[in-house]
Formats: sequence, structure tokens, C-alpha cells
Amino acid sequence: MNARKQRAIAMMEIKGHCSQIDSDNFSVRSQSNPKNRYTVSKTENGLRCQCKDYTCRKADCKHIKIVLEIIKNNQCYRNNTFRIMERSKLSLCKYCDSGKIRKDGMRNTKKGKVQRFKCLDCKKRFTTNFGFEKKQNDDSIITGSLEMYFSGMSVRDISRQYRRMGIKISHMTIYRWVAQYSKLGSEYVEKIVPRVGDWIRADEAFIRVNGKMNYLFSTMDDETRFWLIGEMADTKFQHQADKLLVSTVNMTQKTPRAFITDGLPAYAKSAKRVFGKETHHISNVGINSRRKSGKIHPTNNKMERLNGEIRDREKVFRGLKKKDTPLIAGLKLWYNFSKEHGGLGGDVTPSESALIKVDGDNKWKTIIQNASLYRENSV
Ligand SMILES: [Zn+2]
Ligand SMILES: [Zn+2]
Repeated sequence: MNARKQRAIAMMEIKGHCSQIDSDNFSVRSQSNPKNRYTVSKTENGLRCQCKDYTCRKADCKHIKIVLEIIKNNQCYRNNTFRIMERSKLSLCKYCDSGKIRKDGMRNTKKGKVQRFKCLDCKKRFTTNFGFEKKQNDDSIITGSLEMYFSGMSVRDISRQYRRMGIKISHMTIYRWVAQYSKLGSEYVEKIVPRVGDWIRADEAFIRVNGKMNYLFSTMDDETRFWLIGEMADTKFQHQADKLLVSTVNMTQKTPRAFITDGLPAYAKSAKRVFGKETHHISNVGINSRRKSGKIHPTNNKMERLNGEIRDREKVFRGLKKKDTPLIAGLKLWYNFSKEHGGLGGDVTPSESALIKVDGDNKWKTIIQNASLYRENSV
């Protein structure tokens, strides 16, 4: 057994009294009777457990929750895909996760009639349009707006586009959706540790905020193209580079073997301070690999490509008034989870290549549903 596997198993035992049998099966210790262990297995329809709670209620029991938490934090000794499922299709109670629910008439809303459910365990009633409950517009119009916005259309363009389709939505409403759901969605996905490689790239892009020049400091995983951190700053000072690398380690839960940057001197110090001596810092990379000396030098083209995408969205940021905007987080969410990346073979998103799989065609909808339930359960 290698050291990593041993460490992971030890960590799992402490954190969740859980060990991994093979890539699809986990063994979780019963909390009421420590001699008992339950096997939690991956299936097409999510995780399944042997315990009574699961078999009687068809609920997500605490053993499943422990395993989900472990996969989410990437603490398995094998890399496991974390799956974000279409929650409304799972037929689970919104409040207690019980599978014993039944239809309970229709609810009249401004959007029309909506199916209501009742939980036979906790007796509460609910509808399954999680995250969109109080909205007057259909979730596909809302998520469509998010997709168009981050693809580079302005809120006014989107409003006009919908009007041509006979749907009246003001550009201010669209802006509010973008801000609200960017925040909600990114709070949720940022808790999931992406399975990244050993090379990290960093760079800064200029962005104008309220007429003033700002820098967007970013790090990206070389292998999966996952955009890890995006932080706005009005300076290029040392503490900003430090902060960027600390956030990067927190997100990936590891330090890279190689760190690739431009010539900004702050990176050299930060790399030593935050990553440590083991990390090889390759600095001063440019766009052209050929140097005057004739030697081939590594380039930062992959990072340039991300920065290019950001700059192409000038329109998106034209209305930026504050540095701490949720729009950067929203753009990052879109880039990682919704957009297929040309550099990854065309039909794979960076999140998929980092083993975070979002079910369904409408990635925004799946993420928002889960984010909304996650937020409700964590307050
Ligand atoms: Zn169980
Ligand atoms: Zn319930």
C-alpha cells in the first residue's frame, strides 16, 4: 500500500469512520453500533446504502452523506468523480431527504400550476423547482439569461432578444438574476475540491472597474484547464500574489510540483513562501516559445487563452462598479462548468476533466437546484 493510499485511508477513518473498498464501494461504520459496518455503493442513480434508514425510507442516510463529503473533498485514495445530480428528478424530500413522498395536488403560482409533494416522514409539503421558487419567470428563461450573459451578451442584448420572442423582461431583472445566481452557484461549487494535476499556472489580466484599471489575478490547473482562483486587485503588490497562492492551495488541497508564471517578481517570493521549496517555479514565460538564443522556452499560452476569454467579455464587465462583484465568480462558474473547452478535445468542460460531473443538459439548473438546497441546509 502506498503512502498516499495509507494517508487517505487514515484520514477517512478519522473524519467519517469510513474506508474505501474499491472505486465504487465504501465501508462506513455504524454510529449506534460500532461493530456494524455498512457498504455504500455507487450506482447509476446515485449512492446506495445497506442500512435500515436507506432501505426503509429510500433516503440519503448519514452514511451516504459521509461518503459524499469524502468524495467532495477528494479524500479518497482513488480519484473519484463527484457527481452533481438533477435534484428535482431524485424524488427526495426537500427537508429530510426521505424517499417516501407522494403527490399532493397542484399549487397555483404566477408561472401556472406547479406539482406539490408531501413527505410521509416529516409531513412537510414542497415543490421541486428548487432555487427558483419565488421567481415569476420560468427557470429555463433565467438560466438561458445566465448562459447568454457569460457567453458575452450584455443584459440589454438579452432583454431585446427575449422581447423578439414575445417575452418581456427588463435588463435590470436580468442583471439581478446574474448577480444572485452567480453568488449562489459559486458558493456551492467552490466547496468541491477539483481533481487537478501537478502544474499550476498564474497570470494577471487588466479589467476596468468603474473606469479604473484593475488586475484580475488568476490561477489555472495546467492539465484540466480548471480556472481555480480569480481575484480582483488594484495593485500588483506582493500580498496579492501571496493571497492568490494561499487561495489556490486551499481550493486544490495540495501544492503543485511546478508553477508557471510571467516575470512578475512577486510570484517568485510567493511561490517559496506559500508552496515551499519543493515546487519548481518556471517564470518569465511568454507567448513565443523560441528565444533569441534558439532555445525552446515554455509558454503561458494556456493562461493567455483564459485571459483572452475574460477580455472578450468586456461587455460583461462594463457595468462593474465594485471589485468584490459576484460576476467574476459567475464567469468562473460558467467557464469551468458550462462551457466545453476547445483545448480539452471539444466536448469536455474543465470541471468534467477535473472529475466533477454535472448531470443534465442545463448545467446552470442542476447547479442552482443543488446550491439552493445546500444553502438552506447549512443555515
Ligand atoms: Zn446508511
Ligand atoms: Zn421530509
